[in-house]
Amino acid sequence: MRLYQRCLLGLSLAGSLQLASCSTQPTKDDETMTQAQSDLAMAAADAHSYAKPTEAVARHLDLDLDVNFDQKILSGTAAYQIENLTGTDQIIFDTRDLEIEKVFLGEEMEETTFRLGDSKEYLGRPLIVDIKPDTKKVTIQYKTSPNAAALQWLNPQQTAGKKDPFLFTQSQAILARTWIPIQDSPGIRITYNAQVKVPENLLAVMSAENPVEKNNTGVYTFEMEQPIPSYLMALSVGDLVFRQVGPQTGIYAEPATIEAAAYEFAELDKMLEAAEKLYGKYRWDRYDLLVLPPSFPFGGMENPRLTFVTPTVLAKDRSLTSLIAHELAHSWSGNLVTNATWNDFWLNEGFTVYFERRIMEELYGKEYADMLQVLGYQDLTNTLNDLGPGSADTRLKLDLEGRDPDEGLTDIAYEKGNFFLRNIERAVGRERFDAFLNKYFSTFAFQSTNTDKFLDFLRSELIQGDEALAKKINIEGWVYSPGLPEDFQKPTSARFAQVEEAFQSWISGKPAAQLDTKDWSSHEWLHFIRMLPESMTQQQMAELDRAFNFTNSGNSEVLAAWFLHAIRNNYTTADQALEAFLTKVGRRKFLVPIYKALIATPEGKKKALAIYAKARPNYHAVSTVTLDELLK
Ligand SMILES: [Zn+2]
Repeated sequence: MRLYQRCLLGLSLAGSLQLASCSTQPTKDDETMTQAQSDLAMAAADAHSYAKPTEAVARHLDLDLDVNFDQKILSGTAAYQIENLTGTDQIIFDTRDLEIEKVFLGEEMEETTFRLGDSKEYLGRPLIVDIKPDTKKVTIQYKTSPNAAALQWLNPQQTAGKKDPFLFTQSQAILARTWIPIQDSPGIRITYNAQVKVPENLLAVMSAENPVEKNNTGVYTFEMEQPIPSYLMALSVGDLVFRQVGPQTGIYAEPATIEAAAYEFAELDKMLEAAEKLYGKYRWDRYDLLVLPPSFPFGGMENPRLTFVTPTVLAKDRSLTSLIAHELAHSWSGNLVTNATWNDFWLNEGFTVYFERRIMEELYGKEYADMLQVLGYQDLTNTLNDLGPGSADTRLKLDLEGRDPDEGLTDIAYEKGNFFLRNIERAVGRERFDAFLNKYFSTFAFQSTNTDKFLDFLRSELIQGDEALAKKINIEGWVYSPGLPEDFQKPTSARFAQVEEAFQSWISGKPAAQLDTKDWSSHEWLHFIRMLPESMTQQQMAELDRAFNFTNSGNSEVLAAWFLHAIRNNYTTADQALEAFLTKVGRRKFLVPIYKALIATPEGKKKALAIYAKARPNYHAVSTVTLDELLK
């Protein structure tokens, strides 16, 4: 039985909300409900959402959208099944740059009144809908803006096939509200069905059960029966084909890319098996990949059932597939057990990096995974140096209130989070730690979690009052203190030791062409390039380039690292390749360091601004927000 207490909710003329008094009484005899309430309470504390889910919360979405490439807008309806927990007379959704046309209540579609509150930069505006205590359905009729931050509309020229336009969404962290009016907090989960109408020659896919081929109506329907947070809402439309990889896995890509993608990701099923062996059954039925055009701002996005992935991992030698292991790992850490707010982002990413490297170790051995740990440590060191000692942003538990979460989320959550978990593994042994993680994923499946909740679980399941163990695990040092704790043990790699040897002999005068680089993977190459001195002569740069052809590498990681040296040493031979790379690739991880290196000198800055003017239309808003700031 549920007991609801009615709240008094007042709305001032300016549109700001004033909560007079409200308290809910969870029924103590209903375990699930208490759990659900605790999740909602965490979501209600989310500084990046206007929603008040402890009062009225969305549970299921029926989305009906029309995709208009000419006007670059989506239009249609978002119909929510809602639960009015307190008998309130309003439900609040997040919106940003949306045009809300009409709102209806119930199956009878009775029109109701609504208001949009004041707009705040990255948060957008609350949509406040008048409801009744017994309202169960709210239907919002709306349109997106051509500038919606989550949506990237590509013209045919920006695709691999050059024939048809392309659309993809990127909802994380708080951009779902720019294409759907939604309670946009990671602590609120919904199931969804969707119907999407697209031009007849294109295919639509979502983070849901997907079609595998085009039909002749251009209308596609989708079902996502597992509850997901809003940042995992995803849609892509383009000239896409599907290729089966294993019984449970497959790839969507443009026809021009499908062969390369099928080769690169041929081991998808093996990866899925390795992951299941570690942390339990995959809970989302299918695992497919969607290979996007190069402007995709991230390496990958773990949209459930359909990871979105950058084509910059198509290295032709399967050397960059740890990225897929990462996105797959999110099917447990992030998608299944989700950070309640962006302050707890390390619970998504730190766990995922740890898990990703365990998958890679399972597939390719410890020496291989060790290389990834060292590269990750190098990334972490750079971020720690950038943010400076004592920076609050180098703690695992973040405080992002008053900031765009996309700007406060860094490598810290990923790499420091990973090294914290490795520290626990070292303290309790791998067997115990794996059992703990298995239990963690099954206990909190399809729920949200925050730092306190995880640490409570850690204390009750692993530490269990053992003070010596607590000291080794050092929660305070890792979670709440900046930088790395004093007892941190740097990762080492035997394969990198050989790279370091080769590097030393080159520095001491051995010709580059005579170095023993046989069987080096892109990780060894990356380590080698990162070790090169900041300042090199033109002869040295040219010698390396002659021996190893870095400037024309087909490997995006190698290229991006090499360009940094080319820029610093004014090695103009690489200019053309650099400009081509920046114009084509929109992945923020590569763009930011390269543009930063360019603007370090006045001539470089001129070059950077000229390239940026040309390249900016090819970048997603996630990248331009960062680069506009950097290049202003
Ligand atoms: Zn991730």
